[in-house]
This record gives sequence, C-alpha cells and structure tokens, in this order.
Amino acid sequence: MLNEEGLPTHRIPNHWKGKKGLYCAGLSRNGLHGAADDANSIVDDIHRAYRDSAPDSEREPGDGADKPEEHKRLTVMETEVVIVGGGPAGLAVSACLNVLSIPNVVLEKEDHYAALWKKWSYDRLKLHIGKQYCELPHMPHPAAAPRYLSRAEFVTYLDDYAARFGVRPLCGKPVEAASFDGGSGTWRVTARNAATGQEETYTSRFLVAATGENSDPVAPEIPGLDRFTGEALHSAVYKSGAKYAGKRVLVVGSGNSGMEIALDLCNHGAKTAMTVRGPFHVLPRDLMYLGMGLVKYIPVHLVDPLVLMLCWLRFGDLSKFGIVRPAEGPFYIKAKTGRPPIIDVGTVGKIKSGELEVMKVATSVNGDEVTFADGETRRFDAIVLATGYKNAARKWLKAIIGYGEGGLLKEDGFPVKGYPNHWKGSNGLYCAGLSKMGLAGCAMDAMRVAEDIERACQGAEALRKGEMEMKLKTT
Ligand SMILES: Cc1cc2nc3c(=O)[nH]c(=O)nc-3n(C[C@H](O)[C@H](O)[C@H](O)COP(=O)(O)OP(=O)(O)OC[C@H]3O[C@@H](n4cnc5c(N)ncnc54)[C@H](O)[C@@H]3O)c2cc1C
Repeated sequence: MLNEEGLPTHRIPNHWKGKKGLYCAGLSRNGLHGAADDANSIVDDIHRAYRDSAPDSEREPGDGADKPEEHKRLTVMETEVVIVGGGPAGLAVSACLNVLSIPNVVLEKEDHYAALWKKWSYDRLKLHIGKQYCELPHMPHPAAAPRYLSRAEFVTYLDDYAARFGVRPLCGKPVEAASFDGGSGTWRVTARNAATGQEETYTSRFLVAATGENSDPVAPEIPGLDRFTGEALHSAVYKSGAKYAGKRVLVVGSGNSGMEIALDLCNHGAKTAMTVRGPFHVLPRDLMYLGMGLVKYIPVHLVDPLVLMLCWLRFGDLSKFGIVRPAEGPFYIKAKTGRPPIIDVGTVGKIKSGELEVMKVATSVNGDEVTFADGETRRFDAIVLATGYKNAARKWLKAIIGYGEGGLLKEDGFPVKGYPNHWKGSNGLYCAGLSKMGLAGCAMDAMRVAEDIERACQGAEALRKGEMEMKLKTT
C-alpha cells in the first residue's frame, strides 16, 4: 500500500486502506485534517469488519451497528485544541489557530458547518448591521460587497473563509460531554457519530466552547398552544411567507426575527398580527449604522438623544401603534445589557399602514383561537414562534470547572465574567461567541483565544526545553 517513499500508492480518498487489515493514517499530505479523516475512515472500516465477522449470537437482528458497549466507544483522536461548534465563532478560532500552525479539530453537530446560516434561518435574512462589524479575523469583506450582506452572500463568505484558512470541521458529530482529567491534564470530549451512532472520544490540552448563544429554539408557555389546530412553527424553521398568502398568521415575539418575519408575511399577502410584550427600541437600519459609528467617538449619553430624535423624525410617535420605547436609550441599553435595539427593515411602515396588527401578549390558545392579554380573541391558521433561542453549552460542558467560582460558564451557558474578561477559564478551557456581541464578538474572542493558546504552547515548549537541558547537564 506504500511506495518507495513511504507514501500511499492509491490516490486520495482511497489511500488509507491496504490488504489484510493493513491501514495507514496521516500520510495523505493533508495535515491534521487529513489525519482526522483517515482516523474516521479506518475506525469505521474496522468497526464494519468487526460487525461483519461477529458471530450471529452477538449480532442484534437487523442492525449490525448495535455492538457491545466497548466497541461503540473508540478513541478517535488526540489533538492540541478541540473546538466544539462550527459556527462563525468556531470557524474563526480554527482559522486563527491554523495561522499559528496549532493543530485543532472543530466538531459540529449538524451535517453542515455554519448551520444557523445554512439551515436554520429564513430566506430573506440579511445581516442587520454593516459588513465591517460582521467579519471574521484576517479576512475583511471586499470593498465591492454590499453594506448589508444577504444570507447567501454571508454563507459564501464563510465558505471562502473556511477554504482560505484550511478549516475543515468534522460535521455530524454532536458533542455530548466534555470533562477535564486532572491526572493527564487533558480534556476528554465525547461526540456521537451521527452517521454510525458510534461514540467517539477526542482528547486535547485545550477546549473551546463555541456552540453559540442560539443553540436550542425556545417556545413560550402559552396554555393550549400544544393543541393549536393550525400550523405552529418556530422561526428557526420558517423559510418564506410564500405559502401563507391569504392566511391569518400570528407572529409571537417582536425581536429582530419576529419583526422581519412579520414583514415577510405581509409582503406575501398574509393577514398578519404580531405580539409585543414590553417596551423596546426600534431603529431604522441606517440610524443603527450611524449610531454604531458615533459611539466609537462620542459618549453614549450624547448619541442616544441624537439617534432618537432622528428616529422620531422618521417614524413619529409609535406608542399609538402599540410600540413603546424604554426610558433608557438604545445604545445605553446595548452597552449595559448587550441587548441591541430592533432594526427596522420595513416592518414599522406595515404597522403604520395597518397591514400588520400589533397585539398584546398571547395568554391562551383554544383550537384555532388565540386570546390576548387585553381580552381580545382572534382566529389564526398559523402561529410563528419568534421567541428566540437558548444557549445550550451547559448541556455538554459538564466539567465542574465549567461554572461557579473561577470557572467559565454559568448555569445559563453564558460566561461568568463580564466582557472583556469572559473568554478564558482554567485548565485550558475557553469560550468564543458567547459575549452577546454578535459576529464582532466572535471575531474578537477567536483572536484572543488563539493568541492565549499560542502563549501557553510556547510556555510549555520553553519549559520542556529547559527540563531537557537540565537533564543533559545532570547526566
Ligand atoms: C436570525 C439571526 C440573525 C443574526 N444576524 C446577525 C447579524 O446581522 N450580525 C451579527 O453580528 N450577529 C447576528 N446574529 C447573532 C450572531 O452573530 C449569530 O448568531 C452567529 O451565527 C453567532 O455565531 P456562533 O458561532 O457563536 O454561533 P452559531 O452560529 O449558533 O454556531 C454554533 C454552532 O455550534 C453547533 N453546535 C451546537 N451545539 C453543539 C454540540 N453539542 N456539538 C457540536 N456542535 C454544536 C451548532 O450546530 C452551530 O453550528 C444573528 C443571529 C440570528 C439567530
């Protein structure tokens, strides 16, 4: 299977398997990712061979993959850094590490990386903020790119980014647990191979949690919602308003997704209503852009009144339409809580023209009837739950040092420490993309994490060299 130079005689992707149970790994000249691919192919092949050769008495009927536990758990890979999550944050960390030649592996639960952008978002989605706030390290958007990239354009950017920096996430690998082994000083990460059902173990010195703030869709607890006779769906699976033309649709939630989906439904001719829970700021996209530029140079307490005055000139008083502004300004709230204002891309116009009706909070559902907090009752054909997501990092990051005193993440999956010290825990544990600062936050975290890992690697290398020299001197 190997030629004179010790390299595989067969070309990629058939290079790793010889005859009579002989394999090679890491000889494809594709670096760490090549080695990872080889390891996976070999483990799967050996598992298949084992399954096919096992006596019938050991075989589960109809499913050869169900083998005794020890054959399901195979150690697959040892590397320097395991990054859990292949969204923009995970890609950025991997790219920064690749630039520094630090071996790493990205584990992604879905069958594609950047799943939020490729799979779990609606068709008309555009980046809500200017492109310069939405780029990953080492690769600015080209000058010719539009200020607000469409979903497709952003996906192309992410694909180009991954290709340029050699980032090759291992997809279909939901991570189920990660814990630190104090004895060996390594992280042990367990993932399920979605294709084979097999449990895989990855060990590393460093672990980066990059599973995002939006891992699990959240549905509100509205009595009777589970028995709604129409179609109820979360915004994560909403694609387009095309199929709702002429239908009565309620959008629950008035965040960025809710507002934009309501607009999309109106544009497609649905009779749309949207619930509003409490006061919030809504700004036209260009005023948001202006404000984000100004806060770099001018204090927030001066930017807020200016932006709100311009907003009033644009929208007028929205309280008569059921949209009430909080007492504190939009950029003050963003700085204090990380919660950005809602960005209007046309929804306010639909509210003012009466095409989109603003309702109070939905309190109960009965058949196809929804009752609202003010006692109003309406019938709907569909309900879109634009009620957000929750961070699910704590589902898999079970290590005791992952939270609490001196740890990294709280019970809600967000960092214990506030910005800008949120990204580093102890024992080589880091997070990226959990600072509530969008894509700009992902980029900043990625650079800090990679630089810190590089420093730690250099420190360990210096220590090792020092120890070697000491040994040589004493012998
Ligand atoms: C609809 C929408 C629009 C947005 N628009 C903007 C915008 O215009 N500008 C901006 O700055 N921000 C925006 N954001 C916010 C944020 O920047 C994005 O959510 C961004 O994708 C965050 O990147 P991330 O990598 O941290 O998380 P994600 O993109 O959520 O990626 C996390 C990845 O981890 C994977 N994962 C989760 N659990 C596991 C597990 N157990 N094992 C393995 N993999 C796992 C997920 O499948 C996912 O691919 C938007 C968010 C949403 C929801």
